[in-house]
Amino acid sequence: MKLFGSSGIRGIANKDITPELALNIGLVLGSRKKTAVIGRDPRVSAPMIEHALIAGMTAAGCAVTGIGLVTTPTLAYAAREYECGVMVTASHNPAEYVGIKLWNPDGMAFDSAQQDEIEKAIEDADFSRAPWNEIGEFEEDGKATRAHMNMIKKLVGSSSLKVVLDCGCGAGGIITPYLLQELGCEVITLNAQPDGHFPARNPEPNDENLSLLKKAVVNFGADLGIAHDGDADRMMAVDENGNFVSGDELLAIFGLFECNGSNGKVIVPVDTSMMVDDCLKGSEIVRTRVGDVYIAESIKQYGAIYGGEPSGSWIFPKISYCPDGIYAAAKLAEIVKEKKLSELREGLPRYATKRGAFPCANEKKAKLMEKVKVELEPLGKVLDIDGIRVEMDKGWVLVRPSGTEAKMRITAEARENVDEVFEMAEKIVKEALK
Ligand code: MG
Repeated sequence: MKLFGSSGIRGIANKDITPELALNIGLVLGSRKKTAVIGRDPRVSAPMIEHALIAGMTAAGCAVTGIGLVTTPTLAYAAREYECGVMVTASHNPAEYVGIKLWNPDGMAFDSAQQDEIEKAIEDADFSRAPWNEIGEFEEDGKATRAHMNMIKKLVGSSSLKVVLDCGCGAGGIITPYLLQELGCEVITLNAQPDGHFPARNPEPNDENLSLLKKAVVNFGADLGIAHDGDADRMMAVDENGNFVSGDELLAIFGLFECNGSNGKVIVPVDTSMMVDDCLKGSEIVRTRVGDVYIAESIKQYGAIYGGEPSGSWIFPKISYCPDGIYAAAKLAEIVKEKKLSELREGLPRYATKRGAFPCANEKKAKLMEKVKVELEPLGKVLDIDGIRVEMDKGWVLVRPSGTEAKMRITAEARENVDEVFEMAEKIVKEALK
């Protein structure tokens, strides 16, 4: 049984993720930890799963503190005072999904070894029930969001921008509007009321889901547009002209200001644009596997000052190892105070990229990657941490098996002719597929 995916346990509520499963996870976790903090995003099914988890954990003797409806970065920050954190969220997935994500006290999500241990214990029913007088206590604490806001206010300067903020009816609506206001911004909110049906838009803050935000920024004459996903660990932005800012651009902009000329390390996934390398010339860029958990692990391992993923996950280890969309929103408001976002974007180098996918049965992926590696290896500097990425003078190409679908993905980026680089990789993949 494989419970954990790349971002915790996730599935359709009351079908894949049932109260019975949550109860078992609670029993297993509560048998291993003495204290825990639990929170949830606004999903319709979240209280059902949260209560089952609390029942399991307290039944095993673990003392549980509930912090109610919060963002994921708030929960991860709150985990510092407990042996673990539990967040009921399906992040950016549609409304019918729910999920459970487990956190260490430093704000790092459970790693694969910890997840495997929980999975095995559930399979083996390896947990203990406390006697009646040692059942864990449950208490509620309403101060977690304020504590998180105060921490961010210590780290980020004021701003007086006019900001349109689209919380997508997610958990971000209870924190980011207030934080930006307290920092001095004039805030116009869209979809700031948490609603587990996500009636306004799909919770994923990508270009196609943010048409309302793009229009509102222009119509209100705002300096900046900001959007969150359902649990506000992600943040994406729109410039003052209503143009969506790509993840690679934000990765570079945050990098420039977090590194601030220092030669600290920055962690990015293998599919990141070389724009980031060109912008952060003084820093050492370390590429790692795709997935915010891997970025966080590498930040810790290398003592990096910052890391992120173009999907909208920005990690600032001075707060925690959890991507923090709220800190990112405040930081961007501070950055854009000095220079318009469109001008910051114009200053970035730009290269053409091309992406494609080819059907490939899951069981054939490993064999195919072996063949692809042999062909790509002589062409340049190879990085095989997640798929095969080969760096050449004219650009780079990444051939990577999809983690969720029966597909091979090709990403190419080039200083001049991206089609040439892409087609070269495409030919190799098609040949290997024969
Ligand atoms: Mg999320």
